[in-house]
Amino acid sequence: MEYQCSVCGAKVKNNLMVYIDHTEQHIIDEIKSHHPDWAEEDGLCSKCVEYYKAQLRGESAA
Ligand SMILES: [Zn+2]
Repeated sequence: MEYQCSVCGAKVKNNLMVYIDHTEQHIIDEIKSHHPDWAEEDGLCSKCVEYYKAQLRGESAA
């Protein structure tokens, strides 16, 4: 069974998708600021999690 990441559109295996914990609300807020239609219960792929965590650490060139 495959899951489609609603943030980047990538297809990933169900067991590789990530649900963000409420204690990481700052990550949820960051994702929602870029993807208003996304909801945390949708989950996202591990690449997106790493991407947004990096953004919040200020590692992006943007
Ligand atoms: Zn993704």
